[in-house]
Amino acid sequence: MNAYESARHYFETAAAVMDLSPNMKKLLMTPEREVKVQVALKLDNGEIATFVGYRMQHNSARGPMKGGLRYHHEVDAEEVLALASLMTWKTAVVDIPYGGAKGGISVAPKTLSESELELMTRKFVDELQDVIGPDKDIPAPDMGTNAQVMAWIVNQYEKYHGFNPACVTGKPLELHGADGREEATGRGVGLLTEVMLKKFDRTLADATIALQGFGNVGSHAARYLSDNGGKVVAISDISGACYDSGGIDIAAALAHVKQHRSLEGFDAEKRISNEELLALDVDVLIPAALGGVLTEENAGDVRAKYIVEAANGPVLPEADEIFRKREIPVLPDILANAGGVTVSYLEWVQNRQYFKWDLDRTRAELARTLTASFDKMWQLATEKHIPLRTAAYLMGIGRVGRSTVLAGI
Ligand code: NAD
Repeated sequence: MNAYESARHYFETAAAVMDLSPNMKKLLMTPEREVKVQVALKLDNGEIATFVGYRMQHNSARGPMKGGLRYHHEVDAEEVLALASLMTWKTAVVDIPYGGAKGGISVAPKTLSESELELMTRKFVDELQDVIGPDKDIPAPDMGTNAQVMAWIVNQYEKYHGFNPACVTGKPLELHGADGREEATGRGVGLLTEVMLKKFDRTLADATIALQGFGNVGSHAARYLSDNGGKVVAISDISGACYDSGGIDIAAALAHVKQHRSLEGFDAEKRISNEELLALDVDVLIPAALGGVLTEENAGDVRAKYIVEAANGPVLPEADEIFRKREIPVLPDILANAGGVTVSYLEWVQNRQYFKWDLDRTRAELARTLTASFDKMWQLATEKHIPLRTAAYLMGIGRVGRSTVLAGI
């Protein structure tokens, strides 16, 4: 199954438990607006390059739409739409007043110079500026984009609409960004891993962890987990994986990646492949890189006792079914990685209040929001004897459905 079929499958599974009517299902799955634009620019060498950009606005029943912008060569309309629908359920699961959207440009960002990347971003905003904004749709960083890209977006948007920092989140601190936004997704992953272990009478201190992906999400999750007593025995990036039975020195790994921009050459007990990492005999497996890495083919090899979906869509439905039968709990992406959008919301609130919070306040609010959402999901799963993912979807779809009906069709 591809990303779209996966998203559809998980939605349908929850809709069946809820006994949603076919008409309501159609209403909730149909995106409100699909935007596809040409992004053309002159490269540094004078050649013309033309890219295709997307913004999929899935649902605004609960508030302005919210979702990341991805610069990646595999971005296509179906994938962006699937990710936009995930955002609708995700913002509802953590009960923040947003809907769901997602965007992206089909481009390999590393092939562009800094000035080309800036020009491409500004041209994209020229095309989108009338359909995004603080009360309409608020982009944020995702794969291939970062705080610098958000700074260009806000600057370009303001050329049309005046001072408006709340039009994107994930901005640099110097330009109205929020303390704690960059770490938020990974920190949330770490925090929720701890909360889940507690439900099984386990603690981080007696847990071994393997983490795939050492970018924004993976590195901050690793830091939180090791700072709080967890033993992270394996980490990885696109160059491969590092294993250390005594626990990886996360501070040293972070310093290595800062200097070399890769884990390549990092000193560990042994190097293994990303595929071997997924099959390690650990307590917790955290895929934090790409979607679709746990499949029908490799789910049987997984030896972890718990899985935490830090990436979007790392467990395909066929693998999910295998884990259900093997009684391996999967903490679903729509809650596990919702720390990012939660602190994005807090950034937007601060921008609109013209009032900056300190890091402790943001961290406390993040922990409160995620823990409350987890407890609700856990309770629903226990009461209805359903997997955690289905329970999370029930919460998300239920809230969006009720808002839609109350507002009037
Ligand atoms: P990133 O670009 O910062 O990091 C991605 C990491 O994955 C890098 O370490 C990269 O080397 C590694 N990687 C890439 N291809 C790989 C491969 N084939 N095998 C193993 N590792 C590989 O991205 P990120 O922001 O950390 O996002 C990671 C995932 O989390 C994505 O699925 C993203 O959609 C999701 N996510 C991110 C956020 C956020 O706030 N950044 C929020 C929610 C969800």
